[in-house]
Amino acid sequence: MPKFYNTLTRKKEVFKPLKKGNVGIYTCGPTVYDFAHIGNFRSYIFADILKRYLEYKGYEVKHIMNITDIDDKTIKRSKVEKKNLKELTEKYTKEFLQDLKTLNIKKADFYPKATEHMKEMARAVEVLEKKGYAYEKLGSVYFDISKFKNYGNLSKVDLKGVKPGARVDLDEYEKDEPGDFTLLKRSTLDELKRGIFYQTKWGKVRPGWHLECSIMSMKYLGETFDIHTGGIDLIFPHHENEIAQSQALTGKKFVNFWLHNEHLFINGKKMSKSLGNYYTLRDLIKKGFSWQTIRYFLISTYYRQRANLTFKKLEVAEKSLERINDFVEKLYRFSNSKGQSPAKSEKQLLRILKETNRDFEMAMDDDLNTPKALAAFFDFIKKINKITEMNAKIAEQCLNLAAKFDSVLGLKLLERKRKKNKIPKEVLLLIKQREKLRQKKQWRLADEMRKKIKQTGFWIEDTEEGPKIKRI
Ligand code: AMP
Ligand code: ZN
Repeated sequence: MPKFYNTLTRKKEVFKPLKKGNVGIYTCGPTVYDFAHIGNFRSYIFADILKRYLEYKGYEVKHIMNITDIDDKTIKRSKVEKKNLKELTEKYTKEFLQDLKTLNIKKADFYPKATEHMKEMARAVEVLEKKGYAYEKLGSVYFDISKFKNYGNLSKVDLKGVKPGARVDLDEYEKDEPGDFTLLKRSTLDELKRGIFYQTKWGKVRPGWHLECSIMSMKYLGETFDIHTGGIDLIFPHHENEIAQSQALTGKKFVNFWLHNEHLFINGKKMSKSLGNYYTLRDLIKKGFSWQTIRYFLISTYYRQRANLTFKKLEVAEKSLERINDFVEKLYRFSNSKGQSPAKSEKQLLRILKETNRDFEMAMDDDLNTPKALAAFFDFIKKINKITEMNAKIAEQCLNLAAKFDSVLGLKLLERKRKKNKIPKEVLLLIKQREKLRQKKQWRLADEMRKKIKQTGFWIEDTEEGPKIKRI
């Protein structure tokens, strides 16, 4: 039985679904105002591993991920890009879904959009108002956290300094300090002019971010469901507020297991849009890293530990994948061979397969410890490489085990024409041009070309065997 660390109880707990054999998972999805960065994908790959492992264990998983297509950021960006809101959010939703596909992240069952659930949200706020949890002020509607007795249970946030009453028009700035939060926000004049509003009994409004996740998760997964995921930055206030709204509405427990992934860091800081210290998936692919390398790198750290992105680490991931690739190629070669293996080798193989399977599942059962699961796989490679009398039968069984593990890891390890990481075409062209300049002894121009190549993230070293290219 898998155990997952539940943020709600701060303990690893044996996972048990509400309904035998079925699991409902909700993942907070992207705000579609720009490309997602590689830190965001750490969150989505983590949710993907969770889902894949539950499927591996025989559960039927229903996975919902929302698309935030109306909020301060999307509205602001659509104005800058001189697009209407829908045009902008549709563009980035498409790019987001494409990135998920590139990273071999399994499709969710549904990607509900906030703008398509306005009616349900407004109706829920009416209920909250009737029950005394919500109040209106200057055309916006707020949730009164003093009315919800378990507020702070998930995040253990300190409520001592909380001031009663509404902090008018917050949304972007609801971040760190506990207090009443926005359910429906009065549309600004500019939003009204652009048609970004929804008519309610309180006037023209748009929904708060927290509200959409409560309403959409319950709509598709039921009032109580199994697992909710997101990055740790979402614990407070987002998930705390989701719990308050949902439980105030239904009087039932909202979610059984809250799973949160740690952040991806870069140079000692959290990768984030606001700090500008980020790479998108496309940035890294342009630098010559394959999607497998990026995915491998992201799962090679336990999800509850910080990971730090460096090119060096991506190169290590590349090397590890190459080792697996060489192993798989060897198995394919043997799988076509003829001849019987001696009984001794078969016995040895059975033992290795059993041990590896046990170690892999033990690691995954222990709160999805992917680095340990990968270590079990490398251990397997080492042991198999020692068997001298490999034959088709043994090779096939090894390939089957690798395929089974890969259904969880999602690295397409058995794909034969796995794309090797390569130097981008544009860089190769620059190198060629520089070589021509060097042959013509145009040293100054060749040096300039080297600088140009450096700007692409590569460095050329001239050696006796010709130029050698390195990633900076
Ligand atoms: P956002 O679009 O900012 O709401 O983020 C989408 C998801 O990415 C959320 O689950 C965040 O917690 C997560 N996230 C944002 N930055 C990082 C990061 N540097 N590392 C890991 N997850 C992140
Ligand atoms: Zn959410």
